[in-house]
Amino acid sequence: MRKKLIAGNWKMNKDIHETASFITELKERLKDFGNEVGIVLCPPFTSLVVATAQIKGSPLRLGAQNMSEHDDGAYTGEVSAKMLAALGCEYVILGHSERRQYFKESDQLINAKVKKALATGFTPIVCVGETLEERKAGLTDQIVGTQVKGVLHELSSAEVGKIVIAYEPVWAIGTGVTATPDQANAGHKLIRKTIAKMFSWATAEMVVIQYGGSVNGANAADLFSQPDIDGGLIGGASLKADSFMGIIQAGVEQSASSNR
Ligand code: PEP
Repeated sequence: MRKKLIAGNWKMNKDIHETASFITELKERLKDFGNEVGIVLCPPFTSLVVATAQIKGSPLRLGAQNMSEHDDGAYTGEVSAKMLAALGCEYVILGHSERRQYFKESDQLINAKVKKALATGFTPIVCVGETLEERKAGLTDQIVGTQVKGVLHELSSAEVGKIVIAYEPVWAIGTGVTATPDQANAGHKLIRKTIAKMFSWATAEMVVIQYGGSVNGANAADLFSQPDIDGGLIGGASLKADSFMGIIQAGVEQSASSNR
């Protein structure tokens, strides 16, 4: 059974002081938590050194929001896998729609980053998802299928089994509009089917697929109850302990009910 994974993508929010106070509060509220779901915080690079010290002894894990495909060298402004590993990062978000849109990241570049992340021991959280125009034009399956094939190009089954994919319909990110549980699960099924065709059903069944797009404490339980939804990549609602805890709680309850 796949364990649910809830990751908070802070984007460009929280300085070191806000990071420290947020994690202090979250840790306090997670005191009775028993590791039923995985929880990952993905702060900005500048907060990682504070976050890694703060999460010690807690169930929280650390992720970055991006990573260079290069090992080191003259790449101004970039951050390498080695630098992130030294800070205690175990996860890295790759190919977020904001990186695709604002920084023109292609499936090919994301694929190179995924390969680097896997080669250096990271768990990549690889984002895919269609825009509203693409959905309206009936292109969702084609777009998402092409993205999945592109980002997983030339990987082995063993590598794919270690990856986390986040299905994030672009029209649902930061908009307050959430995909219905059925819409989201259909996207997840499509991703699993695409992986099965490229590799095998056994591999596809291993891949943790998160949903992302305006998840909050009120809609998380319905989303997480879907058979192909293995948790969430959370933006806005991961910035406040109250809302993030509501989502974690929904994950814990869903895990408990599917174990019954
Ligand atoms: C995200 O940016 O990955 C995201 C899902 O954002 P939000 O939860 O704010 O829609």
